Amino acid sequence: PGPPELDVIAHAQRLPRAAADGSLALIVLHDTTALRRAERMRADFVANASHELKTPIAGLLGFIETLRGPARDDAAARERFLGIMAEQADRMRRLVDDLLMLSRIEQHEHARPDAAVDLGRVLAGVGDLLQLKASSRKVTLELAVEPTLPAAVGDYDELTIVFQNLIDNAIKYAKPATTVRVTARPAGEDRVSVAVADESDGIPAAHLPRLTERFYRVDTARSRQLGGTGLGLAIVKHVVNRHRGRLEIQSTPGKGSVFTVTLPAAISQK
Ligand code: ADP
Repeated sequence: PGPPELDVIAHAQRLPRAAADGSLALIVLHDTTALRRAERMRADFVANASHELKTPIAGLLGFIETLRGPARDDAAARERFLGIMAEQADRMRRLVDDLLMLSRIEQHEHARPDAAVDLGRVLAGVGDLLQLKASSRKVTLELAVEPTLPAAVGDYDELTIVFQNLIDNAIKYAKPATTVRVTARPAGEDRVSVAVADESDGIPAAHLPRLTERFYRVDTARSRQLGGTGLGLAIVKHVVNRHRGRLEIQSTPGKGSVFTVTLPAAISQK
């Protein structure tokens, strides 16, 4: 940890005050703490992203060397190594895709998407996409969309990414032979909510507040082994914020987790 930032005083503004002789003094102190924190986070992020990319690159280079040398005439080893290399390259591709997605969302952070989005359609599409993965992990995927569900206000593709990430996580971290339940319903007068519930070991409470930070993982080795980039929930949070929505995470150790996204409904938009 660096030295405390002593030059920063957060008494941001004071009103002009008249001294006894009637002269005025205006004191403006700039608070640079937030700025510095943002700079440090950005530097950390670049370092983390580079490190995440370096690992598969080092792996690939190592296998290339082996294929050129010791494994040159070993057809079986060659096949096996090429398989691993394809996996490493795929991991790099996923990481770069997620990084690009994050940067695209950040660039438009303040523009609010305003199309009417049929969440039933979004969820059905994501369900189709992830059905195979669910089956291969012996997880049953259950979608329940209330027939009276109003459209959400937002962006179809971005909301697809949100639920793809949440449902993919639920399938990834669920215990085998359990059910992932996705429930979409109206929430109050002018909002809609989608809850994604899994049956899993759950997430210890201490991790919950940091879960949406970039590259934050409860178990890094497990996340990597399951193909995670550590950026999924950061993307979810950014998109939900941009939609003026809310992400709520509840988890019961030993039982499972529920990730609930609440979004503005189209009915409130005149
Ligand atoms: P990853 O690509 O590692 O899954 P995410 O950003 O999607 O990254 O999630 C961050 C971390 O939160 C994961 O590494 C995992 O530890 C935890 N996590 C996310 N979703 C779940 C879930 N449904 N059950 C248990 N842990 C989860």
